[in-house]
Amino acid sequence: MYLENSLAFAQSLDAQDELKNFRSLFHIPKTSSGKEVIYFTGNSLGLQPTTAKEAILQELDDWANLGVEGHFHGRNPWFSYHKLLTAPSANLVGAKPVEVVVMNNLTVNLHLLMVSFYRPTSKRFKILMEGGAFPSDQYAVESQVRFHGFDPEQAIVEIFPKANEYYLHTPDIVQKIKDIGEELALVLFGGVNYYTGQAFDMQAITQAAHEVGAVAGFDLAHAAGNIPLRLHEWNVDFATWCTYKYLNSGAGGTSGVFIHEKYADATSLPRFAGWWGHEEKERFLMKKGFKPMRGAEGWQLSNAQILPMAVHRASLQIFEEAGMQRLWNKHLQMQKYIYFLLDEFNQKTNKFNIEVITPRDERQSGCQLSLVIKKIGKQVYEFLTKNGVIVDWREPEVIRIAPVPLYNTFEELYLFFNILSKF
Ligand SMILES: *Cc1c(COP(=O)(O)O)cnc(C)c1O
Repeated sequence: MYLENSLAFAQSLDAQDELKNFRSLFHIPKTSSGKEVIYFTGNSLGLQPTTAKEAILQELDDWANLGVEGHFHGRNPWFSYHKLLTAPSANLVGAKPVEVVVMNNLTVNLHLLMVSFYRPTSKRFKILMEGGAFPSDQYAVESQVRFHGFDPEQAIVEIFPKANEYYLHTPDIVQKIKDIGEELALVLFGGVNYYTGQAFDMQAITQAAHEVGAVAGFDLAHAAGNIPLRLHEWNVDFATWCTYKYLNSGAGGTSGVFIHEKYADATSLPRFAGWWGHEEKERFLMKKGFKPMRGAEGWQLSNAQILPMAVHRASLQIFEEAGMQRLWNKHLQMQKYIYFLLDEFNQKTNKFNIEVITPRDERQSGCQLSLVIKKIGKQVYEFLTKNGVIVDWREPEVIRIAPVPLYNTFEELYLFFNILSKF
């Protein structure tokens, strides 16, 4: 692919981009001087779809006009509202509809899934995680381990990159799983690590876990809507994700859950139950005795959070139109362009060197690149912010940037390095 380091060339890439019109479906924040910011934090909080407000207003109107009747007689009856989200969510993660439900929030779902899928015995009680997982995941796992009467020091095994390396290698993860062997109850990994941006080989990890008799679950907070997923085919046991990062569904938005079809009728699995997971036809009979619905829906507890789900629905419609494959193709093109600009930048500038700690391999990364600029990283971060580039800083030394194919442009990639060069 021929590439050129110029504004005109970046603009020509945008002109040829078949997804270019999607940017207009999002509210782009502005600086105090009224200029659109360069928003590279879609991995943290995705931008608001312009259709979100209307989607919420529709539900508010139905509530105003119908009151409780909205459950059955609204334009999208609330009784079954969550089902509107199932097919598009299943498409995003490569699942069958029976394997997916949208409910609760991410950490809550992690707990519910561990209730069913972390069932330690005195011999098999260990959990393998990527070292330095997102804190909420660490706390969830630690408290689950204690809940079962085990000591986190003994039960939680973290795998870290080798000395002087930033990310993990799949063969090392697989070897670790083999080493823990019969003591391993659960592998709980991120799909994409929030700090390094590394995308893990979920298929290989799942297979290795199964070979030693363990369960494999994934936190897809940084993977859903970012990288192509085929959870069913990879034989993943369970997964969960939030919807406010790459999925643009608003702060504190709802969460998605995947439970493999092989558990669809596993009524004997322990689970924490609530009425929304009860057999739908009998739900309002208010009878004793919990009978779970088939598949992931049987893990629901409470009636659906209609307002956050309305936003999620609006956002999923955009993903349905764009299609994950087309988004991924544009991402790959953006990735090539970033590395081209980055390499030129590092060659030309002697003020500082940008090191990328995310794997360059397109199968081991998504939209996020984690940049390390030794010594002056924090100052560079502050300079970018002052100049209308929204990126984020993660202690101890990383600037995360995540250009996303839905609303970011090639021009913004060019401008990013242009602004950096003025530091
Ligand atoms: C964003 C994120 C969370 C946040 O959890 P919430 O329950 O949605 O607040 C948890 N885990 C990971 C890996 C994340 O990236």
